[in-house]
Amino acid sequence: RELLANRVKTLTPSATLAITAKAKELKANGIDVIGLGAGEPDFNTPKNILDAAAESMYQGHTKYTPAGGLPALKKAIIDKLARDNHLAYKPNEILVGIGAKHVLYTLFQVILNEGDEVIIPIPYWVSYPEQVKLAGGVPVYVESTSEQNFKITADQLRNAVTPKTKAVIINSPSNPSGMVYTREELIAIAEVAVEKDLLIVSDEIYEKLLYNGLEHFSVASISEEVKARTILINGVAKSHSMTGWRIGYAAGNAEIIESMTDLASHSTSNPTTTSQYATIEAYNGSQDSVEEMRAAFESRLETIYPKLNAIPGFKVIKPHGAFYLLPDVSEAAQKTGYTSVDEFVTALLTEANVAVVPGSGFGLPSTIRLSYATSLENLEEAVRRMDNFVRSKW
Ligand code: PLP
Repeated sequence: RELLANRVKTLTPSATLAITAKAKELKANGIDVIGLGAGEPDFNTPKNILDAAAESMYQGHTKYTPAGGLPALKKAIIDKLARDNHLAYKPNEILVGIGAKHVLYTLFQVILNEGDEVIIPIPYWVSYPEQVKLAGGVPVYVESTSEQNFKITADQLRNAVTPKTKAVIINSPSNPSGMVYTREELIAIAEVAVEKDLLIVSDEIYEKLLYNGLEHFSVASISEEVKARTILINGVAKSHSMTGWRIGYAAGNAEIIESMTDLASHSTSNPTTTSQYATIEAYNGSQDSVEEMRAAFESRLETIYPKLNAIPGFKVIKPHGAFYLLPDVSEAAQKTGYTSVDEFVTALLTEANVAVVPGSGFGLPSTIRLSYATSLENLEEAVRRMDNFVRSKW
């Protein structure tokens, strides 16, 4: 008898894990490795949020809450969506869960039947395909090239739709490319969704990390018709540097949200009560620290981008959001004697002592992803090491 269920047999571990494990091993052996793999802000959670969390515990808010989230937190989220995104939701259209990741997992469980297709633009966040497959769905990939700034077009979407297509995932700003869809691009995509009767899963977790004066635009705010078929996903992990608190949410169609809440009531119960109180403060309190962190990321990007682009054989499109750079390094890998970017990444780690994530994990094997959620000092040293490595082997 086999030990494991069929559904987990094709599950691939997150692409960042292998490299992180190797980097840790090197560090344990006393080697000074610079890690650019992290997907989280390097700042502590702002003090007003820490204080609110502590206060809530001392007041005795240490018990279960409703499975879908505290009414006061749903209200804070509703107010945030109205204030920032000009969107009106009711409490039964909001589910608070254990990070945006698990909220997405729950969403795919409730919307997908066996064989339903979900359109996933390449490059994609590593968990989308696995979550879709775990729900019995079939990922259908649409590739966006660097010439189209790693964004799919409405025509590409239309061509990928079949009678089995249930949803399309849009992640803007994007992990791993840092690209941001314009309002016009989103309108064109939404038109296809309406025409073909698709749900839009809009992952807006990097909403607050936008540069060059750009403002976030949620696809759900195009029209009532588009809003009705959009499940908006967001959370406080990246905006408020709260990755470890594990709070994310979904906003959308009440029937879907109620079903997600029922599923959560049997799978997780409520997200951690203290984290919910922390998130109430994150949204109702001062947003100054959100802007301070964003500005810090932007200044790092401005410093590091030209230096990275100057490494021979690295081609980088300047991102407009999130905290990742996605250089195409196929030429650098080839000119330094590696047959694949994956091998080049291993050599960068073991010989140059810089840990980056191979783009193969995001569906774009000619690229590497590096995160600038680390100090400028680390970033400059990492780029110096990569530059020396490439030039010495060229
Ligand atoms: N969506 C994207 C695109 C992400 O990059 C991440 C985190 O890396 C998440 C969702 C998950 O966020 P959370 O920490 O809230 O689960």
